[in-house]
Amino acid sequence: MTIETVLSAQRAFFATNATKSIAFRKAQLSKLRAQLKANEALLFEAIYEDFHKSVFETYATEIGFLYHEIDVALKNLARWSKPKRLWSDIANFPSFSYIVPEPLGCVLVIGAWNYPYQLSLAPAIAALASGNTVVLKPSEIAPRTSSVMASLINSAFEPNTFCVLEGGVEETTAILAHAFDKIFFTGSTAVGRIIYEAAAKHLTPVVLELGGKSPTFVLADAHIALAAKRIAWAKFLNAGQTCIAPDYIVVDKRIKGLFIEALKREIATQFQDIEGENYVQIINERNFKRLHDLAQIPLVSDKTKRLIAPTLIEEAQWEDSIMSDEIFGPILPIIAFDDLEEVIATVKARPKPLACYVYTQSKINAQKIIDELSFGGGAVNDSVMHLTNSRLPFGGVGASGIGSYHGKYGFDTFSHHKSVLVKWSRFELSLKYAPYTRWKYRVMQRIFG
Ligand code: NAD
Repeated sequence: MTIETVLSAQRAFFATNATKSIAFRKAQLSKLRAQLKANEALLFEAIYEDFHKSVFETYATEIGFLYHEIDVALKNLARWSKPKRLWSDIANFPSFSYIVPEPLGCVLVIGAWNYPYQLSLAPAIAALASGNTVVLKPSEIAPRTSSVMASLINSAFEPNTFCVLEGGVEETTAILAHAFDKIFFTGSTAVGRIIYEAAAKHLTPVVLELGGKSPTFVLADAHIALAAKRIAWAKFLNAGQTCIAPDYIVVDKRIKGLFIEALKREIATQFQDIEGENYVQIINERNFKRLHDLAQIPLVSDKTKRLIAPTLIEEAQWEDSIMSDEIFGPILPIIAFDDLEEVIATVKARPKPLACYVYTQSKINAQKIIDELSFGGGAVNDSVMHLTNSRLPFGGVGASGIGSYHGKYGFDTFSHHKSVLVKWSRFELSLKYAPYTRWKYRVMQRIFG
């Protein structure tokens, strides 16, 4: 199927208003849930082939997450879609006003490979819940998961409602030549710019879910053992190929030694057997090589299996090459500090990250870091887990992205909030009409000051 056929079918179908009915939207979401549920084995198999992700990890970070997003939307959809009635101001007396969310139309979702199901299907769920039609282009970098999504979705859905088109740069470029009502992109900042430019040609609004270097602060009063446990899990989950993974640590130098010891113990407990089921491959040779070049130290790795062991860079400096770009792999630089103000200023001078984490028992210090730094989202005494709370918007700021989603925020992202004023016809104030007399001007001054 070509993008031209799919898009014209979706435009024609959207114009019938069928997608606006709550029952229709719920039916699409239920169908998607049932299709995923019935084919879990295929989904697990494909992701294992792409990068050895285990069933547990796939369920916890991808499939379970999607079921939750669908269930939240099914439960709340009718309420979210209701018009919100508001008071009008005095200039419009007598009247009332309301805001009603309406679907945007035909939207394009471009997914990333690192959580291929979650990052392709969660935006699609939000778009369907809001009554849009969806063209989904998953990442070609994870070819089996892309192909399994194409076959499961294209066999269950009418292409005029939800359709997967596969492909790489060439196919995506061709898709981007067309006008959509919104483009939702997850991926790198570099490609984000290309998407933004293509969208600008059609004045298409975009959501850009990008990356960045997410700092993790470990202060002197942190609960060291627990901080190490949570950080080790969040960093080495998916072999560090997580957009909100702690990219680097800044640790108070008084506890640096103890923290590194605790981190090593946790790595040994959680990820000792890198060839086993609990550890994930690097997605491809290009990234395997990129990580070796970036680290500039010998890594414990296996080229044929594309495995890189969890690696700490214990004496990292701000000027190191590892501190220049997002790592997106299982390498964790650790920088010691002795002045919190100074380290906050250094982080603040860098591009705004997607996430930020603070480990401390001091509410004041945690609040200070949260207030002073701008970042997409984050956590105090945890990492990554803020993403799992569907009541929180998920997205970046500045260089880490534009817009957000999850739960109600996803619904709003794919809706236009239409504002309507309803005037009564029983009487009419003559103030606004010509002739513009002096007393009318005085009355206006009294109203507006
Ligand atoms: P990428 O930017 O290379 O690719 C993402 C998508 O863009 C793919 O579908 C790909 O086919 C398409 N694409 C690539 N080059 C293109 C081009 N020239 N023209 C048009 N389309 C093109 O990103 P990636 O390697 O898949 O993912 C890694 C990056 O994504 C990291 O920076 C990571 O932090 C970020 N990321 C962000 C989030 C988030 O939610 N904010 C989630 C996951 C990953």
